[in-house]
Amino acid sequence: MLIEKNGVVLVLSGPSGAGKSSLINKIKEDIGEYYFSISTTTRPIREGESDGIHYHFVSEAEFKKDIEDDNFLEYAIVHGNYYGTSLKPVKKALLEGKLVIFDIDVQGNMAVQNRLGDITTSVFITPPSLSELQRRLVSRSTDSQEVIDGRLKMAKREIQRISEYDYLVVNDNLDIAADVLRQIAITARLKIPHDKINTFVQEWEDI
Ligand code: 5GP
Repeated sequence: MLIEKNGVVLVLSGPSGAGKSSLINKIKEDIGEYYFSISTTTRPIREGESDGIHYHFVSEAEFKKDIEDDNFLEYAIVHGNYYGTSLKPVKKALLEGKLVIFDIDVQGNMAVQNRLGDITTSVFITPPSLSELQRRLVSRSTDSQEVIDGRLKMAKREIQRISEYDYLVVNDNLDIAADVLRQIAITARLKIPHDKINTFVQEWEDI
């Protein structure tokens, strides 16, 4: 008896500077069909970012309208701005059997676990230490000292919640961390939703 391929979710969380995008870039050819969820946010667009590619940038009024219309799978306030994952493209990608990848914070992970826990694998990605994170943020020099301080503070808070994740990937060496994440992403595909398991058990007994 064949269990049909189904969509699954891979949540990636961790401080900016952890190397999430570099890791995804390294493994994207090896993980089959995937959909990287583009979040909606009210934070101002940064230099080098494009609307519709990095985020959908919207006003607070637009964001609140989306909340009212129940358009989000989850949303949260991070650093004083709204961030949310739109439900529609995620549903579509899941129906197409894709690996749906989210880059969301710890609050978002909790919400996704509550709604899609049976098909979700979660990974916390971090640099090896707070001082290394600081070094990376300073050397990439895209942020002001104030922003860097905010990110470090948030990283210290988020790190306390690693136990809410299935896996921890310490990104000390990019190649090694990519190998680990590749294996996690491939294994994430094997998760089977509860309803499919129930059907399998019923049919297995009937055959
Ligand atoms: P940044 O503004 O640096 O791009 O992202 C700030 C934080 O917001 C990151 O921790 C990122 O993972 C988180 N984030 C981005 N999009 C979403 C989202 O749709 N939902 C939630 N809960 N967090 C998000």
